[in-house]
Amino acid sequence: MEVFWELHKDLNREGPGNEASTLRALALARDLPDKARVLDLGCGPGAQSITLARAVRGSVTAIDLHEPFLAQLEKRADKEGLSAYILARKGDMAALGFEPGSFDLIWSEGAIYNMGFEHGLDEWRRYLKPGGYIAVSELCWLRDDPPEELAAFWAMDYPAMKDKAANLAIIARLGYELAGHFTLPEECWRDEYYGPLGRRIQMLRSSYAHDAESMGILDLCQKEIDLYERYSAYYGYEFFVMKMLAP
Ligand code: SAH
Repeated sequence: MEVFWELHKDLNREGPGNEASTLRALALARDLPDKARVLDLGCGPGAQSITLARAVRGSVTAIDLHEPFLAQLEKRADKEGLSAYILARKGDMAALGFEPGSFDLIWSEGAIYNMGFEHGLDEWRRYLKPGGYIAVSELCWLRDDPPEELAAFWAMDYPAMKDKAANLAIIARLGYELAGHFTLPEECWRDEYYGPLGRRIQMLRSSYAHDAESMGILDLCQKEIDLYERYSAYYGYEFFVMKMLAP
């Protein structure tokens, strides 16, 4: 698995997104208090943690399982003069030990799939203050007629992937009020994630040319990128922002 971490080392982002989209989602949390307490789950290298800290000027507690990502975030925070606002901590999004009602806003970009969309939204709300918000981005089908090749790939890689309507139904069923949702523009995938990842794959191919297992991992990642180039109209990342109503 060494190649996997080399593939994902020191990238700016570990999923599709960009600063404008983070700010657009944040603006949907209309009545967030000043100096909000934010929890960023599955923060990765923390591009969105930095954006949130700068915009909110409260506190951002950023959680990830992978320590090198946390170190990367701390370095960035230091460089940006935001260290006082960001607390990067190793933790499991499925087993958080915070006091109930600790946060005004829970954030998770490209990471709730690790727990499952519904399970995550159901578990995390206990950490919100009444009237608090959750904002998550989630891979969704945008059309109901995906080509066979694409459907087969995601049936293997993310079988729980749903369409937007099914995820909106989950949000309503859990008792959240929808504050808004939008599909991440394609540049969030191309410029911010697949571009750098594709260049990294090309770089690693020569080092792993004689290692069939590693080449298989690189090929699979390249296939994911190629499928998006061909079929981006069929699926995308949807940002959902919701408010927990007072009990
Ligand atoms: N939000 C970041 C990273 C998205 S990738 C970005 O958009 O760039 C998903 C992240 O979830 C990875 O950093 C991975 O290490 C983390 N992760 C996976 N399972 C986790 C878990 N159980 N608890 C906390 N983080 C987890």
